[in-house]
This record gives sequence, structure tokens and C-alpha cells, in this order.
Amino acid sequence: MNIQQIRSDFPILSRTVYGKPLVYLDNGATTQKPRCVVESIADEYYSVNANVHRGVHFLSQQATELHEGSRETVRRFINARSTNEIVFTRGTTESINLLASSFGEAFMQEGDEVILSVMEHHSNIVPWQLLALRKGIRLRVVPMNDRGELLTDQYEQLFNDRTRIVGITQVSNVLGTVNPVGKMIATAHAHNVPVVIDAAQSIPHIPVDVQQLDADFLVFSAHKVYGPTGVGVLYGKEAWLDRLPPYQGGGEMIQHVSFEHTTFNELPFKFEAGTPDYIGTTGLAKALDYVTAIGMDNIAAYEHGLTNYAMRRLREIPGMRIFGEAAEKGSVISFLVGNIHHFDMGTLLDRLGIAVRTGHHCAQPLMQRLGIEGTVRASFALYNTREEVDALVAGIERVSQMF
Ligand code: PLP
Repeated sequence: MNIQQIRSDFPILSRTVYGKPLVYLDNGATTQKPRCVVESIADEYYSVNANVHRGVHFLSQQATELHEGSRETVRRFINARSTNEIVFTRGTTESINLLASSFGEAFMQEGDEVILSVMEHHSNIVPWQLLALRKGIRLRVVPMNDRGELLTDQYEQLFNDRTRIVGITQVSNVLGTVNPVGKMIATAHAHNVPVVIDAAQSIPHIPVDVQQLDADFLVFSAHKVYGPTGVGVLYGKEAWLDRLPPYQGGGEMIQHVSFEHTTFNELPFKFEAGTPDYIGTTGLAKALDYVTAIGMDNIAAYEHGLTNYAMRRLREIPGMRIFGEAAEKGSVISFLVGNIHHFDMGTLLDRLGIAVRTGHHCAQPLMQRLGIEGTVRASFALYNTREEVDALVAGIERVSQMF
């Protein structure tokens, strides 16, 4: 991988912050965008823009071809069997809300159970809690050990005849743990229970193959994989999506409407009410083409080396406490240093041009498990370098000396 060449594709990386070169280490929150993604958005607005699907005119047909071509790009990227299995949403959060609402409506009764892990993002907790309030279902939680690895034998013991669905993140946005989701899906299937994989933090970093995983549902956001904000994906096996009721009502999701009765469109449109972000889906497809050209295996190997280097360097800092020491770890490192508050560390690093995230990272139950309020989080992407890790380490040492 030619990192300098890659960095030059991301204009924002050459800007300065407070007169210092930007060191952008907040990729878990959102990634920066390569020129090809931003240009595809401008180009489509300038030269193709028209609403999709219902137009007979040239531009509408061209926009529809681009939009449906993007669906095919997503299908290929995650190796789904059919584009019918690719539903466009506004992001991971909306994908999970859609699923919890529709799946809950069709398949869950009072007393039924959902299994989640202790390291889920709020986006994979709260939609199920809303369902719990509506339907009286119960949440069961897979615990973890102190290294941040899920206890898979305890997971297996959570299944009973009321278990209806499992929701697990593939990579923790706080600990970086890469969970053994393939095995966890096999365990769930042995109990005839489907699984939704939150791939928000895995899709940008490792190859994801829904058929190999045998995932029933899988969700992710474009903006975390170098694409635009406001677009996401819900993958679902066709057999499951066919059985779920629509989530929102409106245009495109219908076949025929009368005041007496409405029939719904076929997949995937049944779940896509209203004008989709057809410009954003083109941006997502460009982003997926971009990482595909570099190679997801190459990206995974490069980031693995970078994360190992960062772990080694950070451990040298006196008072360093790292949260998440799993054997399988992605490119996210959460830490605290001595008694320095995470906000203070983040704010002072920012003054040095280093962008990290601080706080609970939308994973308050995990913070409770760790017995802390929050952490500082550095999260890497394919354009980060060892020099930037060195700048982070030097920055932390400088801040530490101030306390
Ligand atoms: N799930 C995980 C693991 C995440 O890291 C995030 C974002 O930080 C989300 C879900 C929510 O993603 P979005 O805000 O794009 O819907």
C-alpha cells in the first residue's frame, strides 16, 4: 500500500488545526472522504440529478441506473446472494431500528428474549429497549472477560425457548475486540435463532462476507467506510425480509394504494419509503470501489501492523491503562493515563492538532462494566501512519507532564 499516494486522495488530511498538521485519529466516529467520493456527489448533482424509479425521462432513468448499480456494488462488496437483500437506510442506527420494529412486530410476544452483548453501541441496545417497552420482551446480555473478550460459553447458556434474535457487534467501537461472530451465528442457528451483526466498525477494516458468516441480518453506515453521511445498509436474507412487515409507509414501498387497502412493493423497495438518498448511494458505491481497489485484505494487514505498533508505543507511557486487550483486536484503542480526565486529555491533544474522541462512546453499559465514565479513544483508518502514532504518543507525554 502506498500510504502517501492514499493520503493525497484525502484533501482534508493536509490541512492544519491550530497551526499544527492535522492528525486525525477519530475514524471510529467517522472517516474522511477521498476525492473520488466527493466528486461523484458533485458530478451527480451537476449532471444527472433527477428523482429515481418513477420517471420516464432520460435523467430519471440514468439516476435510477446509478442508484441500482450502487445496490449491486454493495451486494458484491458483502457477497450477498441478491440485490433484493440490500435495503438502503440512513445508517446503522436506522437499520437496527427498522429491524427491531419489523422483526418485533412479526415475531416477538411478551416474555420473548433478545440476546445482546455487553459491548454493544447504544444503537444496538435502545431500539430493542423501545421494543421491550412496547411488547414486554426481555434483554439478555453476553458478558466479557477483563481483556474485553465475550464469554462464548456463557453466551450459549443464554438461549432458551423464548430467545427470538441475537444482536452482536462484529468489532467493538470502544475495545476494538473482533468478536467471533461466525461461531456465535452457528451457535444461534443451532437454536434456530437468527442473528443481526452490527458491522459499523468492521466493514471499513476487514473483509466481510455475509454468506460465509451465514448472517441473517447485517448493518453498517456509509460514513464510517469513507462514504457520505446519511446512507446506510440493512442486509437481510431474502427469506427473512420477505416475512417482515414494512417499517415506514409512503412512496416507493407500495404496489397499490386505496383508502380501503394498500399492497406493498417487492423487496427491497418494501422497506424504502420516500425518496432515497440516491446521490449518497452513489457516493457509498464509489467509497466501496475505492477500498476494493486497495484491497480489504491489504487494508486489514496494514491497520493490524499500525495498531500493534500503537499498542506497543502507548504501553511505554507511564500511568497508561488500555481498555481492550483481546487477542483479536481491530484498529481502536481506548485508554486513560493516570488520573487525567479523558476530556482534559482530548482537549489538550486537540490543541496539538490531534483529533481523538473522548467520553462513553455511546456504550454506557460497557463503561459500567469497566467501572469508568469514559475513555480517550484513538481509532485508525487506512491513511494513518506510524508518524501519526508517534505524534499521539508525544502528545500524550506532553499532556501528562502538565498534570
Ligand atoms: N454501531 C457501532 C458499533 C458504532 O460504532 C456506531 C457509530 O459509532 C453505530 C452503531 C451507529 O452508527 P450511525 O451513527 O452511523 O448510525
